[in-house]
Amino acid sequence: MTAIRTALVIGGGIAGPVAALALRKAGIQATVFEAHPGEANAGASLTVAPNGLNALEIIGAADAVRAAGRPIPGMAMGDGRGNRFAEFSGLPGLPASHVFARADLNRALHDYAASQGVEIEHGKRFVGAEETAGAVTARFADGSTAAADILIGADGIRSAVRPLIDPAAPSPEYVGLIGLAGFASGSGVEPDPDVMYFAFGDRAFLGYWAMPDGRVAWFSNVPEPDAAVAAAARKTPPGDWLERLRDLYADDVPGAALLRHSEPGDLFVLGGMEIMPDVPSWHRGRMVLVGDSAHAPSPSSGQGASLAIESAVELARCLRDLPGAPAAFAAYERLRRPRVQAIAAAAARTNEDKSSGGPAGPVDPEQIFGFVHRHRVDWDERVTP
Ligand SMILES: Cc1cc2nc3c(=O)[nH]c(=O)nc-3n(C[C@H](O)[C@H](O)[C@H](O)COP(=O)(O)OP(=O)(O)OC[C@H]3O[C@@H](n4cnc5c(N)ncnc54)[C@H](O)[C@@H]3O)c2cc1C
Repeated sequence: MTAIRTALVIGGGIAGPVAALALRKAGIQATVFEAHPGEANAGASLTVAPNGLNALEIIGAADAVRAAGRPIPGMAMGDGRGNRFAEFSGLPGLPASHVFARADLNRALHDYAASQGVEIEHGKRFVGAEETAGAVTARFADGSTAAADILIGADGIRSAVRPLIDPAAPSPEYVGLIGLAGFASGSGVEPDPDVMYFAFGDRAFLGYWAMPDGRVAWFSNVPEPDAAVAAAARKTPPGDWLERLRDLYADDVPGAALLRHSEPGDLFVLGGMEIMPDVPSWHRGRMVLVGDSAHAPSPSSGQGASLAIESAVELARCLRDLPGAPAAFAAYERLRRPRVQAIAAAAARTNEDKSSGGPAGPVDPEQIFGFVHRHRVDWDERVTP
């Protein structure tokens, strides 16, 4: 295969626009095809950690992204009775994590990509692809097609590209926790605005932080072993969920107060939390996966978006330095797989803690977050096969 000049990027969530921007920096022209007719992924909040922000620096998007969110450098972990296991104000030498409304992060990435000349086509649901000796052609649900040298599946945890690369690839797996989120007003709880709090209650986990408008944003993980119950979680009316949450956190500080001062209209049922089990192969021929389609750790890691960003930039670096897709894709997978596996394993331990009232021993932030947050994609270093 000769040098790669053009790419089709399937999915305009987080990995998609970042991949297109990074490819552009590597001299490859990329077009993004997003299934949603308008903005995708509106809904919950998410955090981009220092490692994700550092990868965004490489493609010049960090300032635009930071402006759409709010820095929260600190983190405090405790139990449901108000006791603290650990508190720290960010790891020394690193930028602050930023929290975003998901829609704001998506909009910032799209706007920045568009400002750099990246074309994002909406309403393009990818349904299949054919490879020839010289190109790959994507087919979309509206009957249109597009061709390029390579195709990048940045189409999330339910990827349509993944089964084309490996029909036997695993499907997403439920982790035994249902995610819910909401806002409390007038609760009297006043979190330090620089700190994100993680409270491991006896019966359920609660994360919370202060909003600039005085409300407190929270998210809850409720243990639920039955995957069928979790799959139906969104059908339960928010008011019924709120009653259940008030009961679950009745003895918790400050969970009881936050839930008492939340309204059904401010509650989001995110549904069963899922991971992507190890995907045996991330690439085949001219097609490759990036982001959640290849490696979705549990949301407990707080790293899905940051890892998607890192992988997208690393993929572009490999395509810049190695001739032809097979060598570049193989190097990319070799560079990324051990890291995403380690972070997925750490998130699995956090999920166990969330179901069992918290970590068993003392928590050392550097030990837990150091290898995660301090990682850098070394853009200037040349990739070797
Ligand atoms: C409740 C929850 C909380 C989370 N919190 C955090 C957090 O705090 N920090 C963090 O880093 N991560 C978090 N994550 C994980 C994070 O959201 C994902 O890891 C991240 O969105 C992955 O980005 P992506 O671009 O790979 O996939 P996505 O963001 O899912 O984007 C995929 C895109 O592809 C599009 N698409 C899908 N199928 C097709 C198709 N056939 N054709 C065309 N387009 C298609 C979708 O519409 C979507 O826009 C959380 C996840 C959940 C569920």
